[in-house]
Amino acid sequence: VTAAERGAAEAVLEALRARGYRMTPQRRAIVTEIMQTSGHISPQAIVARVRHRVPGVNASTIYRTLDLLEELGYVSHAHLESGAEYHHLGTDEHVHLVCSRCGRSQSVAAADVEALARAVRKRTGFAPDFTHFAVSGLCARCRAEEGSATA
Ligand SMILES: [Zn+2]
Ligand SMILES: [Zn+2]
Ligand SMILES: [Zn+2]
Repeated sequence: VTAAERGAAEAVLEALRARGYRMTPQRRAIVTEIMQTSGHISPQAIVARVRHRVPGVNASTIYRTLDLLEELGYVSHAHLESGAEYHHLGTDEHVHLVCSRCGRSQSVAAADVEALARAVRKRTGFAPDFTHFAVSGLCARCRAEEGSATA
């Protein structure tokens, strides 16, 4: 755990306190876990890690706190084929790519699909958010295997 990660968790805890939220050990544990995660983390993994710190904590308490953190803008979620995943504030916006054949996932920066977003906006007036749901397709490895299979 770096000092920056600890600082980020403390800043969120301080903001919650300032808004009048009670600083329970489980809230502290949830905020600490999510702010120390780089990349994404599933709600189930958060529950497991928080229970490691605060044994016996209710899963629904953890989910309510995640909802609260999302409402306040400290975390966001995206949908992968494996389910929802949370990111903390400050994670670079990215589009999830999930291989429909082997299930491997990777990501590209949201900026990399900006031209596509612009084209959709221009044509339809709809502003797409490609970061919210995973895009399915074929990964490079599976494409290579498929290529050699059909060659
Ligand atoms: Zn992600
Ligand atoms: Zn959603
Ligand atoms: Zn694949």
